[in-house]
Amino acid sequence: MPRKQLAVLSCIEHERLEFELTEIRTRGRYLIRLRRLSREEQSEWDVREALALARLVDHELEHGCSG
Ligand SMILES: [Zn+2]
Repeated sequence: MPRKQLAVLSCIEHERLEFELTEIRTRGRYLIRLRRLSREEQSEWDVREALALARLVDHELEHGCSG
């Protein structure tokens, strides 16, 4: 039984970070559909998404729980 697989299944923090990233992406897309975002708003969402992704990748690297 590979330990890596077990870690993925049991890593709540990974799930939380992944959920956070999905939520930011979903909300960003929703806002874009709702109305035209200004350049500033658009880049703000890009930064938020990039930060959430970075947190997830950092966690995977530190914890070794990447799927
Ligand atoms: Zn983890």
